[in-house]
Amino acid sequence: MRYKNPYKRKLHIAAALSGAAILSLQGCGTYTVIGDTGLAASAEDQGELQTEAECTDGTCPDTTEGEILSQSPEEFKAFEKSEPEFESRDETVYVQKDEVNVRSGPVIITGESSNVVFTANTGDEFRRTGYRDDFSRVVKDDLVFYISSDYLSVNKPEMPETEAEAESSSYEDGAEIGLDSSWKYADFSAINSGKAVLYKAQSDRKGITVAVNAGHGTSGGSSVKTWCHPDKTPKVTGGTTSAGSTKAVAVSTGMNFNDGTPEAKVTLKAAKMLKDKLLPKGYDVLMLRDGDDVQLDNVARTVIANNAADCHIAIHWDGDGLSSDKGCFYMSTPDGLKSMEPVASNWQKHHALGDSLISGLKESGAKIWGSNPLPMDLTQTSFSTVASVDIELGNQASDHSDSTLDRLTEGLSRGVDIYFGQ
Ligand SMILES: [Zn+2]
Repeated sequence: MRYKNPYKRKLHIAAALSGAAILSLQGCGTYTVIGDTGLAASAEDQGELQTEAECTDGTCPDTTEGEILSQSPEEFKAFEKSEPEFESRDETVYVQKDEVNVRSGPVIITGESSNVVFTANTGDEFRRTGYRDDFSRVVKDDLVFYISSDYLSVNKPEMPETEAEAESSSYEDGAEIGLDSSWKYADFSAINSGKAVLYKAQSDRKGITVAVNAGHGTSGGSSVKTWCHPDKTPKVTGGTTSAGSTKAVAVSTGMNFNDGTPEAKVTLKAAKMLKDKLLPKGYDVLMLRDGDDVQLDNVARTVIANNAADCHIAIHWDGDGLSSDKGCFYMSTPDGLKSMEPVASNWQKHHALGDSLISGLKESGAKIWGSNPLPMDLTQTSFSTVASVDIELGNQASDHSDSTLDRLTEGLSRGVDIYFGQ
């Protein structure tokens, strides 16, 4: 299931809007709604009620659950009385199409006082407690909503497969996936005789494939160069390769931790731990490097992820020469890259994934670097067409014991959940 909307965020707001509280929200919205699906809604509608920050003129109520509880008995009675008769039901129903409006009342209200709380998509599940020809009363997470009865059925709809799902389902568990020379940007790769390995979830399958990229670990990778950008323009920031260069090493060796441990060894260990946390949750995991040495350069790993995964997480630690742990950060897209394709069409996804991973890491108690994120012109970013992030789980001074890696990969796994709305 794909959550196109920040569903959970909206549920919180839905709590505020259930019942008569909706009436007092007039004037806050900057949205309009046309018809009873969101497909024809204005751009403003997409952003409706997503942030309380929109309510800056002081006329808006504090949208908290407490507000509903504070309704006067008279107000509550008036609301109850206004609710039309429903045939009592107790059944599970499924939404039959995308972008169906979920309303706070059994009536279509458009314009500034629209009662659309969020939109539901094909296959979303609700408990129906009341039926009428026009509207059904449904419950989700103990909140009551109303949806046009035309768009609900007790029959679960066939879910259309996404491209990546179709691709993933065509592979067996344990499949070795190499670089297909017909894939876009494949010809920018110089080292591509190796294979990525796909691990498929055995239960609770989500139909989501996460490409996990243990940074470095390609022998001979630093003696070959590849173009930094698909349009062959020079790099806009420094890094392993300096700004102004048009070519960079195909895969660098990586740094050594201050205790002498090679970064590539730790990234592989962390990648395997992350895989072992994602699989039981139902994610398929594409290990772009599954052993000490994979003959796939950064371009090849990126292009394979583009074509066989829904996101790409490259694991690194920073070689910054420092003697103290600086914490985690991700490498964001520098402004100078944002107009070049495929970056222009994808960098916002990269940032959403990076922000999600940092949120997950925070939840796990990991230290976050104060300057996160760090804009960096990376080969990975320049060729990625799926959400793609280089996450630095610390630097050469960071602890990399098993217990620390366990906490960090727990954070990354939580970040994947956050990104996919799970
Ligand atoms: Zn690295």
